[in-house]
Amino acid sequence: MKIYDMPDQEGHFGPYGGTFVSETLIAAIDELKAQYLYYRDDPKFQAEFAYELKHYVGRPSPIYHARRLSDFLEGAQIYLKREDLNHTGAHKINNTVGQAMLARRMGKQRIIAETGAGQHGVASATVAARYGMECVVYMGSEDIKRQAQNVYRMKLLGACVVPVESGSKTLKDALNEAMRDWVTNVQNTFYIIGTVAGPHPYPMMVRDFNSVVGRECLTQMLEMAGRQPDVVLACVGGGSNAMGIFHSYIPDESVRLVGVEAGGEGIATGHHAASLSAGSPGVLHGNRTYLLQDSNGQIIETHSISAGLDYPGVGPEHAWLKDTHRAEYVAINDDEALHAFHTLCRMEGIIPALESSHALAQAMKMAPAMDKDKILLVNLSGRGDKDMATVAEYSGITF
Ligand SMILES: *Cc1c(COP(=O)(O)O)cnc(C)c1O
Repeated sequence: MKIYDMPDQEGHFGPYGGTFVSETLIAAIDELKAQYLYYRDDPKFQAEFAYELKHYVGRPSPIYHARRLSDFLEGAQIYLKREDLNHTGAHKINNTVGQAMLARRMGKQRIIAETGAGQHGVASATVAARYGMECVVYMGSEDIKRQAQNVYRMKLLGACVVPVESGSKTLKDALNEAMRDWVTNVQNTFYIIGTVAGPHPYPMMVRDFNSVVGRECLTQMLEMAGRQPDVVLACVGGGSNAMGIFHSYIPDESVRLVGVEAGGEGIATGHHAASLSAGSPGVLHGNRTYLLQDSNGQIIETHSISAGLDYPGVGPEHAWLKDTHRAEYVAINDDEALHAFHTLCRMEGIIPALESSHALAQAMKMAPAMDKDKILLVNLSGRGDKDMATVAEYSGITF
């Protein structure tokens, strides 16, 4: 098997990635990189991380063979990697535990994060409470209105949620504000980024912390099915749950990797969040990658039924996997995701996150055309409890 050893020392995945930050952050980024590379090879750090994942997060998450769904579709067998069963309900906690542990090792007492839907804010507030650290979460004031329940969860966990009033008052404005805070307070502050984006080493580090997902799948699939899947599917917002499950499978070219972006109301309408399917390369959030931008390089407002996929960029490693054709990227629209959501509820008794429902919808599209002995492995990145109000609203119900 080919060895996959990305990124290079400067954090490049081919022409993507890198470090596009202001002069004032270079020292902090260099320190972070040196410390991360040290602890990545430190057996004590890795042992503590494994302990936390087992006893705090609840890993390993099981793989579930969705037999009723597979029979119903009369095609390939669908297996689900159950990240929805993790503490706090999604894969994001894998990464925030790792970064909070690193922050402690680096002597940083203060955590900052930015959040759109609030899920990463909750995962950050959770680990800050767990390790007794101060936590400040930047969030657009529009998002605060839309995500009141997650804002309250963060507050219960002891975090300070700072409303951002600039620009469109959403995620990209919160990103700028978090960067500004980091520049100002870099001495005592650790910036926890929630996906495989940002300046090097974040895309690599967040991938590494989430790659436990794919490593577990390698052994679990052998135990359950006696072999590896034919296709691995995951939804792509920034791309951390997808990189988490893809990473171990990249060297094995007999396994197809399919990333599923949010097609929103349809790519043709312009109301979507499909950076890889419909964007172009540029620089955002400290790295070079595919973006949704207009002809002047201004970031375009995104749309998706799932707030967690509503990000105008994507991790640079996905940009590289797309260009090299090692992974394929497709878009699933709101209606298709919602249909998959309801189908899984009724067929398997599992309420998935709307984000994960995009990956599931793509699997449901592919399965009927495939033989019954083929295997599709879907990363079920999170649970749908947080999405009740959204689903009810789309269905014309209030409760
Ligand atoms: C945040 C989130 C995503 C999107 O983030 P990625 O970095 O693309 O994984 C997907 N699924 C769930 C459940 C989420 O909470």
